[in-house]
Amino acid sequence: MDYEAFFTGHLRRLHDEGRYRVFAELERVVGAFPRARLHREGQPPRDVTVWCSNDYLAMGQHPTVVEAMRQAIDAQGSGAGGTRNISGTNTLHAALERELAALHEKEAALVFTSGYVANETTLQTLGALLPGCELYSDALNHASMIAGIRHSGAVRRIFRHNDVAHLEELLAGADPSTPKVVAFESVYSMDGDVSPIGAICDVAHRYGALTYLDEVHAVGMYGARGAGVAERDGALGKVDIVQGTLAKAFGVVGGYIASTAATVDFVRSCGTGFIFTTSLPPAIAAAALASVRHVSAHPDLRVRHQERAASLKRKLAVAGLPVMDSATHIVPVFVGDAALCKQASDLLLERHAIYVQPINYPTVARGTERLRLTPTPLHGDDDMVRLVAALQDVWQTLGLGLRAAAE
Ligand SMILES: *Cc1c(COP(=O)(O)O)cnc(C)c1O
Repeated sequence: MDYEAFFTGHLRRLHDEGRYRVFAELERVVGAFPRARLHREGQPPRDVTVWCSNDYLAMGQHPTVVEAMRQAIDAQGSGAGGTRNISGTNTLHAALERELAALHEKEAALVFTSGYVANETTLQTLGALLPGCELYSDALNHASMIAGIRHSGAVRRIFRHNDVAHLEELLAGADPSTPKVVAFESVYSMDGDVSPIGAICDVAHRYGALTYLDEVHAVGMYGARGAGVAERDGALGKVDIVQGTLAKAFGVVGGYIASTAATVDFVRSCGTGFIFTTSLPPAIAAAALASVRHVSAHPDLRVRHQERAASLKRKLAVAGLPVMDSATHIVPVFVGDAALCKQASDLLLERHAIYVQPINYPTVARGTERLRLTPTPLHGDDDMVRLVAALQDVWQTLGLGLRAAAE
C-alpha cells in the first residue's frame, strides 16, 4: 500500500468538501478576555475577539483560579508523578473529588484526565462488565459516549433525540432482567437544546435502567450552585451517574463522574482509561477546585451569562440573521453549507478581526453547518454590536439568506 498517497488523498477529499480543519493559533492574554492574539505564518500577530470559546465563564483567566494554580506549582511542582494507583494520588485530587461529589449531592466522585476519557471509560466499563448489558443512547450523544458504548461491546440501542416515548418503546421491548444504562446529555452543545431529564430518568427507572447524564455544557452554568440542569430542574436525585468537565465553564482541564460510593469505586477499580494513565498535575486539580468553589458560590455569574446570551439572540434576530432556536447560552447561526460556513468564518476574521470557528460535518449533520457563538459574561454590548454588523456584512458578501427582522 502507498500510505502517503492514501493519507493525502483522504485529506484532499476533506479540502474538496470544505471541511478540512484549519486551527486558529491563539495566544491568550490574561485580562484581555474575550480578546486574544492570532498568530499566522508570515504575518504579524493580530488581536481578535473570540466568539466561540468553551471557556464559557472566562474562568480560565480568573485571578483566583490562576493564583491557585501558581501556588500549587510553587508548592508541588509540575507533574503528579504517576498513575493514581502508583504514587499519583494527590491531596488536591482527593479534595477536588470531595468538592464535586458535594456539588452533585452524590456520595463520591472520580476525576479523569478529560471529560472525553470520563465518558469513554465509564460507559465502556459499565457496558463490558454488567452481564448482558444494554446501552440506550440518545441519537445526538457526543463522540466520547459513542466511543465508550462501542468499545464496551454491549448491545447498543439508539433512541431518537430527546424522544422519551421512543426510549420507552425500546425499553418496553427488552428483556426486563437484563442490566440497562440510559446515556444522554443535558445541554446539547451544537443546537443548545435541553433534554427532559426528569422524564427520561423516570422512564429509565421504570424499566430498571441506570441513568447516565453528561452535563459537560451545563456544570457551572445552570442550577442555584452550578451543578447543572439536573439541579435547576430538581432532578439531581434521579440521575444515577452524572458526568462533567473541568475544562468548559470551570476553565481548566479534566473530567469527572459522580455517583454512589460503590459505582464510583467500581469504575475506579475497573476502568482502564482511569487506571492506566498518569493523573492530572496537582496544579490542575488546585485550579479546578478553586474554580468549582468560586463558580458555585457566584450565581451572579450565571445570571449575567444568561442575560448576555438572551441579549445576543435578540440582536441577531432584530438584524434578520438566522439565529437557530436555542434554550441555552449557546447561540448557533445557520449557514447550511460547509464551504460557505468556512468562507463566512474566514471573512469574519479577515475583515472584522472576529474569530468564530465553522462547525461542519461530522460535528453536525451535512446541510446544517453553522457558526456557533458562545457569549460569555465578559462579552460587552459593544462587542455584540460589532459582531452583528460584521455578520450582516458577511451574509451580504456571500449572498446568504436573511430573515425578516424580528421585533
Ligand atoms: C467537550 C465535551 C466532552 C468532553 O469533555 P472534555 O473535558 O473537553 O474532554 C464530553 N461531552 C460533551 C457533550 C462535550 O461537548
